[in-house]
Amino acid sequence: MAKKEKKKKEKDISTKRVASNTLFALNIVWESAPLYVIMYFFSTVWWGIMGFLSETYALRLVVNTAQTAQGIDSVIRFVVILGIVNILGNAGLNYFWQVPSWRETRKFTSHAEGMLFRKAAKVELACYENPKFYDKYVKAMNEIHNRIMRTFEATDGMLDKIISLTANSLLLFVIDPWLLVFAMLPMVFGIFKRKEVKALYDQEDAKKPVVRRVEYVRRTFYLGEYAKEMRVGSMWRLLLRDLVTCYEQIRDIIKKHGGRRALFGYIQQVGLEVFTILGATLYAVWRTMVTKDMLVGDCLVVLGSIGSISRSINNVIQNLADFREQAHFINDVRYFLDYEPAIADGDREMPAEPDTIEVRDLSFRYEGAEQDALKHINMSLHKGERIALVGANGSGKTTLVKMLLRLYDPSDGSVSLDGTDVRDLPVADYRGAFSSVFQDFKILSATVRQNVTLSTEKAEDEAIITALKEAGIYDKIAGFEKGIDTVLTREFDDKGENLSVGEAQKVSLARVFYRNTPFVILDEPSSALDPIAEYTMFENMMRATEGRGVIFISHRLSSAVLADRVLLMENGEITESGTHAELMEKNGTYAAMFRRQAENYLGSEVSGNE
Ligand code: ADP
Repeated sequence: MAKKEKKKKEKDISTKRVASNTLFALNIVWESAPLYVIMYFFSTVWWGIMGFLSETYALRLVVNTAQTAQGIDSVIRFVVILGIVNILGNAGLNYFWQVPSWRETRKFTSHAEGMLFRKAAKVELACYENPKFYDKYVKAMNEIHNRIMRTFEATDGMLDKIISLTANSLLLFVIDPWLLVFAMLPMVFGIFKRKEVKALYDQEDAKKPVVRRVEYVRRTFYLGEYAKEMRVGSMWRLLLRDLVTCYEQIRDIIKKHGGRRALFGYIQQVGLEVFTILGATLYAVWRTMVTKDMLVGDCLVVLGSIGSISRSINNVIQNLADFREQAHFINDVRYFLDYEPAIADGDREMPAEPDTIEVRDLSFRYEGAEQDALKHINMSLHKGERIALVGANGSGKTTLVKMLLRLYDPSDGSVSLDGTDVRDLPVADYRGAFSSVFQDFKILSATVRQNVTLSTEKAEDEAIITALKEAGIYDKIAGFEKGIDTVLTREFDDKGENLSVGEAQKVSLARVFYRNTPFVILDEPSSALDPIAEYTMFENMMRATEGRGVIFISHRLSSAVLADRVLLMENGEITESGTHAELMEKNGTYAAMFRRQAENYLGSEVSGNE
């Protein structure tokens, strides 16, 4: 129960916050596309006034004039002027909405997305591992445009209805102040409209987790990345069954809330149609036909505008609920934008020629974890030195290189560059001193050139080709019709090329050879390569990274032989350190692991020859 209440509290936001979030969304548009805002609201006011003048007001004027047969000239003048103003005004507004408005829309979308992207690039990696935070980020990214537009439309809808309400109420007041009593009735029935809207939101809220599951199941059927698993075994049957269960749950939710919605909807509809509209109609018809003290034009206006007043009031109530819905979402965007990255810039300058990274008594624990992933690590990496980081899965190798890249800050101890704690250096400058390839590297749907340089700047072909050669993939690329300008992946280009995982890994490795940074980090750069390709790759790597500080993680210990120093990690600690020869002589865990792997290779070669 307490949990339920807490959840409810989390979901509700104050009216003040709703207003503040609405202003925040409107301000994003105002800052980036003020012309759009001005034109949007101007159009609403314009069409609102024109609509009123040419429908309601003109009707009254024409019919009353016809009845009294007085002032025909001024009626004609009024209609002609209204016609001219309409022709000119609509020409300008239509042009704006068909042409420049598209440009304006892009302006605020890119402004809003730019805000999110800039923030996303700054937040620490840990945020991506925090489901609550990540969820907010994904939602913010996917929906920001839509939600800003909807806030805008709700504001505009409100303005439109207020204009219509004011104009129609004024006219009714002029005709007969008693008519306002009928106009006010919808406010009373508005309570039921509010209840109906609330029931709808409750229903949609209850549906959300189920709909999320439905979307997930859909993704597993249409995304290529699931295609293999879906074809092996009968996973797809299980997921289809899931889908059916979800639809049954949705049906139950609708059944639960639908009754309330129907009842409230019914009460307010009867209230509007019977009491307000028919009531006012009877009153006006009585005065026109029985007591004969109301002009026919006035009577027609009453018949026409009482319905419009009722609906406007209803719409305003709906708009208020819309503001609240959008404000919930914008709350997530603001949470994300207001988040202060834990990995912050320091104010010391980067050394001109970085030389040594030093790790001192470093311990680190992932958020929510029960144990330290790294315990009292001491090590250093100099320019010109190659370190192999080895150890079983989960021993902490990747975590250690992430600390070196300052993707996380240590829980205890420090990482320093030439004596300066890296927390005192600007993050981007510090990370700029590294090039890295990770196990889960990604090839982008772009040209080979862009995939190597990872930038849009013009680069020398020669440098790219050299990097590709060093990564051992140039022969393959040179065989493509467009060479290094070939687009990788066929997602957006029929003439694109798909590479095998091993080939793609080589392209990602070329990135390291291309950027001449003082330090290089390779997290299992050869995991997708066969043993021969791996050996060649390591040889090339040693040559290409001459003079740079390299730290590489590899499961195949044959590569560790090529390193100046080997660090063995076990359970978050460095337990052995030295050259390959020293560690073999020590005859500890490393030596045992090395021998076991060598036997395996020998074994497979023997069986391969059989
Ligand atoms: P290795 O690279 O040697 O395989 P890792 O550095 O990936 O090892 O992992 C070290 C330990 O930290 C493991 O126990 C792993 O489960 C844990 N770990 C890794 N990443 C995370 C994470 N994002 N959140 C929580 N624990 C993690």
